[in-house]
Amino acid sequence: MPHIAPSYTGRFAPSPSGPLHFGSLVAALASYLDARHNCGRWLVRIDDIDPPREQAGAADLILQTLEAHGLHWDDTVLWQSQRREAYRELLATLEQKDLIYPCDCTRQDVKAMGGIYNGHCRHARPRHGNTAWRLKLYDLPGVLAKLPDTLSFTDALAGVQQQNLAREVGDAVVVRKDGLFGYQLAVVADDIHQGITHVVRGSDLLPVTARQIRFFEILQQRTPIYAHVPVACGADGRKLSKQNQAAALDNRNACANLWQALVFLRQNPPRELAHSDCASLLHWATQHWRLNALAGVPLSTNMENT
Ligand code: GLU
Ligand code: ZN
Repeated sequence: MPHIAPSYTGRFAPSPSGPLHFGSLVAALASYLDARHNCGRWLVRIDDIDPPREQAGAADLILQTLEAHGLHWDDTVLWQSQRREAYRELLATLEQKDLIYPCDCTRQDVKAMGGIYNGHCRHARPRHGNTAWRLKLYDLPGVLAKLPDTLSFTDALAGVQQQNLAREVGDAVVVRKDGLFGYQLAVVADDIHQGITHVVRGSDLLPVTARQIRFFEILQQRTPIYAHVPVACGADGRKLSKQNQAAALDNRNACANLWQALVFLRQNPPRELAHSDCASLLHWATQHWRLNALAGVPLSTNMENT
């Protein structure tokens, strides 16, 4: 049978650093509805490549919570911790093509560079000790040399975005000094591996999107379409996150939680569905989904560097 690439494959990719809270439900629901409304596939991936930041049992709790909310995924869950071999192979290919290099610069070194890594180790021999590995994002060798320093893309919600990868970003860490794989490497490798065509996620990741797109370009892979939805902030104005102990969702209120998330996503859910059941509410929401209802809603400008 010929392999036909589906026209829409989306995903939700939580890091298991804590149980699902309202902010992550919003992101999960937006990606789910955008996929289902477009008759697409919706995958779940557990981004568990950073054990020091993980909480025992969190991944299972996240999956249980998604199911309790009726957010059923296609295929089996992909675990990044099972993908180390693939990441190693990708790194070997990148090294062969002179696209990555060891870097032993410290945090203080980067600070002294003005906070953006200036490519120092592209030409310097590592001095000592543990090295990280960085991916060149600009001034690339060979056929990639034509890629411009400034990367522009259109986010389906946030509109035209532009970043100068040399001046505003700097070469990306793909292997950390502690030997763990970098987040950008794993995300891009897995979005390619899973055939992701559409990424709908929280706007806290908007600032790292240009470097991810450059990574796709370097690998000569088709770039997904991105839509960054507003992130939910707590009463203190800070983004709800597992790190600041946002309250875990109560699965007993699943339908009401979904209804609230739909309100946050500006979908105008009918009041009478707030006390129905997840399946009915999701059915309504899938039919009526309008990503554009979020156009113009302020995105958080949290520049957290992942
Ligand atoms: N695992 C990442 C996070 O929870 C998100 C990855 C992504 O959606 O690209 O922040
Ligand atoms: Zn360096």
